[in-house]
Amino acid sequence: MSAFIDIKSLPTEELAAQLKEQGIPAFRAKQIRSWLDRGVTSFDDMGNLPVALREQLKEQYTIPHVAIERKLVSAIDGTVKYLFSLSDGETVESVLMKYHHGWSQCLSTQVGCRMGCTFCATGKGGLVRNMLASEILAQIEAAEQDHGVRVSSIVLMGMGEPLDNYDEVMRFLEMVNEPGGVQIGMRHISLSTCGLVDRIDELRERNWQLTLSVSLHAPNDALRRQLMPIARKWSVDELLASCRRYASHTGRRISFEYAMVAGVTDTDACAKELAQKLKGMLCHVNLIPVNPVDGTPYRRSCGERLEAFVRILERAGIPATVRRTLGADINASCGQLRRKEQQNSK
Ligand code: SAH
Ligand code: SF4
Repeated sequence: MSAFIDIKSLPTEELAAQLKEQGIPAFRAKQIRSWLDRGVTSFDDMGNLPVALREQLKEQYTIPHVAIERKLVSAIDGTVKYLFSLSDGETVESVLMKYHHGWSQCLSTQVGCRMGCTFCATGKGGLVRNMLASEILAQIEAAEQDHGVRVSSIVLMGMGEPLDNYDEVMRFLEMVNEPGGVQIGMRHISLSTCGLVDRIDELRERNWQLTLSVSLHAPNDALRRQLMPIARKWSVDELLASCRRYASHTGRRISFEYAMVAGVTDTDACAKELAQKLKGMLCHVNLIPVNPVDGTPYRRSCGERLEAFVRILERAGIPATVRRTLGADINASCGQLRRKEQQNSK
């Protein structure tokens, strides 16, 4: 699949230039674009193209799209969880959440993930492949069409590590704001990363107004290395230094994700160490009670622990909140539905 070019993500002029090199007139690019904008997913359906040209296109290009494999709707809060299949049969998950300001969608950026965090369902199976920019985008188009809503904000927090699929994710972020696209402004986009320091530095140079979420999950190297292999590559101090550079360059508050694991990351000592490390940074801490995943020993912290942790951070002047649980009845956090489907089909 990777040998094929994602035709939907090519700007029309770029496509015209590629066609011209092969002796195909530039106006064909406009015709193709107009079919793509109408949602056509096969070159055979592009009626005004000669059959020989359609065959030629098929040899070089792919029209990425997603199909709904499964859909679960929460009876508690209306959260929708999709399992989408891609053109090659691989599957990814996406969640649509209703907030008072509109619908927010959590998108996948890779099939699987190679970062191997020990508490994560997606990480268990390793990386299958990167998603193409148009496949990432197609999740929004499919959900909007299926559920009859307009998505007004997105979070790249589904399956995969967005900064490990850097080029396609950057192209996706550009496409979202192109004329005729889904038009979701950067301020309504969050990108979550386990902390690839070199990529955070690269992203900073774009000076985009998106929200960078960093999955920190531990205040020191010893603990972070138990949970996240990436912590062996970059220390907590190196990661936080890149976050400080990011916040001061873009003027945007960093959102730190912190998984509350009973008896592991949720102690008073952890809270104090975290408060000390984050001192003076433009940031916010989002506490996520860990979601128990089959085959992992982790349990979620109780409400009292969450409150005590928030209090310690706030007393040190660091804003902190506990993430609201949505779609509790449909297992809305990502990676778990796909794993279940795979296990069932074995
Ligand atoms: N790869 C990126 C984005 C996808 S994961 C990242 O790691 O940031 C989205 C968020 O869910 C991350 O903060 C991740 O650490 C968290 N997460 C993964 N598995 C979890 C679990 N079992 N319980 C709670 N949070 C989890
Ligand atoms: Fe990958 Fe994020 Fe899961 Fe870690 S938490 S394995 S980076 S998806």
